[in-house]
Amino acid sequence: MKKVLAILLVGVMVFALAACGSNNAASTSTASSGSTAPAASATSSSGDKLIGVAMPTQSLQRWNQDGANMKKQLEDKGYKVDLQYANDDVNTQVQQLENMVTKGCKVLVIAAIDGSALTNVLNDAHNAGIKVIAYDRLIMNSEYVDYYATFDNFKVGVIQGQYIEDKLGLKDGKGPFNIELFGGSPDDNNATFFNKGAMSILQPYIDSGKLVVPSKQTEFTKIAIQSWNSAKAQARMDNLITANYAGGKKLDAILSPNDSIAIGIIASLKNTGYGTSAKPYPILTGQDCDKPNVAALINGQQSMSIFKDTRTLASKVVEMVDALLQGKDAPVNNTETYNNGKKVVPSFLCDPVFADKSNYKKLLIDSGYYKESDIAAK
Ligand code: BGC
Repeated sequence: MKKVLAILLVGVMVFALAACGSNNAASTSTASSGSTAPAASATSSSGDKLIGVAMPTQSLQRWNQDGANMKKQLEDKGYKVDLQYANDDVNTQVQQLENMVTKGCKVLVIAAIDGSALTNVLNDAHNAGIKVIAYDRLIMNSEYVDYYATFDNFKVGVIQGQYIEDKLGLKDGKGPFNIELFGGSPDDNNATFFNKGAMSILQPYIDSGKLVVPSKQTEFTKIAIQSWNSAKAQARMDNLITANYAGGKKLDAILSPNDSIAIGIIASLKNTGYGTSAKPYPILTGQDCDKPNVAALINGQQSMSIFKDTRTLASKVVEMVDALLQGKDAPVNNTETYNNGKKVVPSFLCDPVFADKSNYKKLLIDSGYYKESDIAAK
């Protein structure tokens, strides 16, 4: 039975990935359930309504997954979908959203590149009677954000911090250990939540001297990596190593907020001779379970990641879309945390899950999220 289920799930995933289609960085795929009959679950309320889904970039694994899941799940409900990727370029994303408004989308689902850059286009959306859902990243400084669906961002950081705490034995009084800290993109509201979550665990050990940051770079503004960019993370890690570890000082742990930053860090560590018994890879955190990073978990270059099942997030957002279009309230489980500067946006927080070498098979392969060959090939 389990096997049958697993095979079915793999089938669904293969379809979802295939639906991802275009390789264009800033791609247009106005898809409709048109000639093919809508799935059995289609609701009469969905009719032919067009939903705009704006994703930041196709260059990161997770957003392809997010876009494909959203598209499939909305189409299964009978909606038409305008799915766009903006190559991490703010102006492109604004342009795409303006087009969605003009095309008559009924709801916009937006994973913002720069959470503070959408105020004008959201005014236009509001004037056109369009509802807005912030997807994964909060949209700042606009009262026209109806809902926010994400994973518990603070908890992501806590899980990363606790992992470092556990692996180093800090609770048992071990130390001092050397650590370096990385933060996410400063224009992404999530980045500060990840950082605050992790520092809620790590800061007391820095204060007590059990964790030492040889570079002394602990401020978020100093450690943040613009656009979550791997090359920028690699360059910063290169500099940290040259300036602080050239004399053979041991580097015990690195806090990386996500997988794209971890990839840059790994490249730097590899190039500078880490990964031998004399100079082992430090503990390294991550987030997203991107395919190359799962391979890195298996081969010991990265220690852990966080699995955020984008299928779950997509299904929450589809529920929100349905509710908005039927004038009903959508399910939320947090009405306090996410203040965007204009209002506290009613939110649904999904649960992030710890992932490492010991459980990736169950989480990612058995659940049909990836095929084993996807990972092995990386
Ligand atoms: C997401 C992370 C992702 C990062 C970079 C964040 O907003 O929550 O899952 O790693 O963006 O794309």
